[in-house]
Amino acid sequence: MSSHPYGTGTVAEAERREELASALARVEQRIEEACRAAGRRRSEITLIAVTKTYPASDIRLLAGLGVTDIGENRDQEASAKVAECADLDLTWHFIGQLQTNKARSVVRYADLIHSVDRSRLVTVLSREAVRAGREVGCLVQVSLDPPTPEGTSGRGGARPEEVLDLAGQIAAAEGLRLRGVMAVAPLGGDPAEAFARLREIARAVQAEHPDAGIISAGMSGDLAEAIACGATHVRIGTALLGRRKTFVR
Ligand SMILES: *Cc1c(COP(=O)(O)O)cnc(C)c1O
Repeated sequence: MSSHPYGTGTVAEAERREELASALARVEQRIEEACRAAGRRRSEITLIAVTKTYPASDIRLLAGLGVTDIGENRDQEASAKVAECADLDLTWHFIGQLQTNKARSVVRYADLIHSVDRSRLVTVLSREAVRAGREVGCLVQVSLDPPTPEGTSGRGGARPEEVLDLAGQIAAAEGLRLRGVMAVAPLGGDPAEAFARLREIARAVQAEHPDAGIISAGMSGDLAEAIACGATHVRIGTALLGRRKTFVR
């Protein structure tokens, strides 16, 4: 996909801006309603626009509409967009499964990595963050999927019983800062039940690490359930940008 599907100042750009503005207004309304229902303040929630598969021109339009936080899940795509948006004041979230050979690149632009799910990754991220002279925020990704016979989760995420160990490792690692936890609701499961489990895990982490108060949970289909269970960061793609043509997760 070209990063500039239309020129600036064109009718196509104005139409896309309108489309994004009304989608953003609908998402804002859903967040506000969920906050009201949960007795929480809107200011407790950070909206992350998940722009994977969409061009940097959309990020630019969203920034113009007041969006400050952008989520991407693949290093190659993310690093190109970060470069194209270098003039904008944005916070970048890396939310995808992360291979250790991408760590060097990701620590250079990510403000918060949501997908730290294994010890080996902590070691490599720490080394590369130090090398880059950066302090990078990290969340422990928790698997809320039913355990498989092999004890692994194909979609990434540490098993709940591994989370405190991993959190401790991140907290002790040079160049990294433990900020909290992240999860994706199980496919086909009840998101409310899963996010309630995540809240308990988040409490246990924060009891040992008082500064690690972030709960990244909730996507286009389940943001209300996530906010009801204490989410501080929601990651919204489809409801803001439209349905993706390619399946990427
Ligand atoms: C794609 C993605 C999202 C956004 O999902 P939507 O259902 O499109 O809102 C959120 N979190 C992660 C980890 C993703 O990969």
